[in-house]
Amino acid sequence: MQKQHLPRIKISNGKTFNNSPHLVILGAGASIACMKNTANGKKMPSMNELSGLVEVQNLLKKHSVKIKEDESFEDFFSRIHNEEYGDLEKELEQCIWDYFSDIEINDKPNLYDKLILSLRGKDYIATFNWDPLLILSYIRHKKIGENKLPKLLFLHGNVGEGICYDCKILCNFHNKICHRCHKELSKSKLLYPIGKKDYNSDPVIKNNWNILRDVLSRAYIITIFGYSAPVSDVEAKEILLDNYKKSKYLELSEIEVINNSDRKKIEETWSDMFFSHHYCIFDKLSDSFILKHPRRSCDSHASACLQCDPVEEHPFPDFDNFDDVYSFLDPLISEEENEELK
Ligand SMILES: [Zn+2]
Repeated sequence: MQKQHLPRIKISNGKTFNNSPHLVILGAGASIACMKNTANGKKMPSMNELSGLVEVQNLLKKHSVKIKEDESFEDFFSRIHNEEYGDLEKELEQCIWDYFSDIEINDKPNLYDKLILSLRGKDYIATFNWDPLLILSYIRHKKIGENKLPKLLFLHGNVGEGICYDCKILCNFHNKICHRCHKELSKSKLLYPIGKKDYNSDPVIKNNWNILRDVLSRAYIITIFGYSAPVSDVEAKEILLDNYKKSKYLELSEIEVINNSDRKKIEETWSDMFFSHHYCIFDKLSDSFILKHPRRSCDSHASACLQCDPVEEHPFPDFDNFDDVYSFLDPLISEEENEELK
């Protein structure tokens, strides 16, 4: 095992940069990349692929409705929301809910396991995805302590997330009942593509966005993984941009974009988020700070950029079992406990 060097980055007020969060923003591309190891072989659809699902096709047949040739799923959904289509909108929502709820993971480590375990309690993962892969991976690592794992934010709702409106808490929907009061959980609202999204309409989604605004204003590294900021969600991009531009660490911070599409297009999409040349674009998550410096991404970046003292990379290997994953992480977690790191 390679020796760990934990950089101590002191700034003038005595705080350390180690406590600035690393924020990861996930879009459909991330879950598609993670699906390789799912248990029941389901396909992870992108938004436009939803209309091609057999379940959706059957529903459209039942209602004798067709998606027009040049119509995206978002346009189609807006059409049936705005016009008189009986129960089709409700049934379509249920159909999509059921499809994503059925997705399971197997017992092999997947990309979301690596992502979750490579971040610390100070860090955040905000996802636009409805599928339960992130929650299912998170649940299996809760035993190492939730204070050692990143916090999860669901920006469009999620099928794995249940809500107890009495206790005002989120619970794992798999259990169907609130772990505090044992009452039945409500489903998380899923935000559907109906043009202008109203992030204040649901108290839980609103709260997630408020936390995100705060994190954006103090994040040290932001990693945007598989999220292409679609034009149908212009509000989301505006919130990201407005709050990040207010960050007191803006001039020190770094943005990583993980996306294997055309580099020029990626730069065009995100150029207004980038401060000067403080950005990187990678094809794969394995090239990111997160997996090259697991649990030390902000620390190693600060050491390299602020102290001119680059830290040796310590990449997260591919493991096929969790015993090896935890053996790899043990020295890092012990070091955090000894140093009282967040
Ligand atoms: Zn409750």
